[in-house]
Amino acid sequence: MLTYRRVRSSLAVLAAAGLLAACGTTTERGNDTGGLRVVTTVAPITSIVAAVGGDRITIDGLVPEGTNSHTFDPPPSAAKVLSRADLVFINGLKLEEPTKSLAHANMGQGAKLVELGTEVLPESEYLYDFSFPKEEGKPNPHLWTDPTYAIRYAAVVRDALTAADRGNAGYYEENYVTFEAQAKALDAALRADQATIPGGNRELLTYHDAYAYFAKTYGWKVIGAIQPRNFEDPTPKEVAHLIDQIEAEKVPVIFGSEVFPSKVLAEIGRATGARYEDTLRDDDLPGKPGEPEHSWAGLMRYDYVTMIKGLGGTPTKLAALDTAPAVPDRADYPQ
Ligand SMILES: [Zn+2]
Repeated sequence: MLTYRRVRSSLAVLAAAGLLAACGTTTERGNDTGGLRVVTTVAPITSIVAAVGGDRITIDGLVPEGTNSHTFDPPPSAAKVLSRADLVFINGLKLEEPTKSLAHANMGQGAKLVELGTEVLPESEYLYDFSFPKEEGKPNPHLWTDPTYAIRYAAVVRDALTAADRGNAGYYEENYVTFEAQAKALDAALRADQATIPGGNRELLTYHDAYAYFAKTYGWKVIGAIQPRNFEDPTPKEVAHLIDQIEAEKVPVIFGSEVFPSKVLAEIGRATGARYEDTLRDDDLPGKPGEPEHSWAGLMRYDYVTMIKGLGGTPTKLAALDTAPAVPDRADYPQ
């Protein structure tokens, strides 16, 4: 089994333990321990930022795990956290508009807000669909479920951290390279394991519409997503249409989500005979903060394994991956 944990130099270990703090750092901005103060939104993004920033930054995530990030309204207490930030990383692509407004109203002079998805995805590649219709003007924002985009997120994070803290440029680059290797290993394992799905049926019918870009990159067909744009359950008319579609396409399994439990989906499963797999996690990292699975790679591995197994494949390469963060993740993940 490959592992991406690195043995750090003794100097870095001392620095991590705070023993070099008295020497000062070259940080241009930052908190009293010398590291940049960073604020993030959803947990997978927090994990990617933590992987690059490591022990040289402090991170406050704003969106509690397992909540609906699409309708999340930050509490008033977030204003204070944002006012102290040097850098704010959000997904963008109109996912976190209330948080973005609060950030702009409260961020201090010289602080910077970075929209990762908006940075890496040209407008010509925005995807719209049932849950994210074009007339609403909000593209599907879920780029992080695709490792190729997660790598590009990490590169934007590295560049933003480096611009704010040039003294640690080499450290951020080293962490980025490690993250990229882990994401590429995930990509390779996914490609190998998805080939084991009988009949090549890489077909996804999900409740929450989180895999549009992933599907495009990895050759999956998104048959549909059930959750309407208002994040309520679908109407009886929509349900009837879905049942027809599932029967016509002989969909073997429908994928629900722990973040969006849905009685309707269970009913659709019963009505059509499609198996109802209700354990995709969307942006809710497995395990607890500090545990090896509690990472972006742990989340994606979990979801890919669920999808491939659900469709009858054998995801052995994914199962063998080490998804633990390569550098200690010290971010604050609200639960
Ligand atoms: Zn989502």
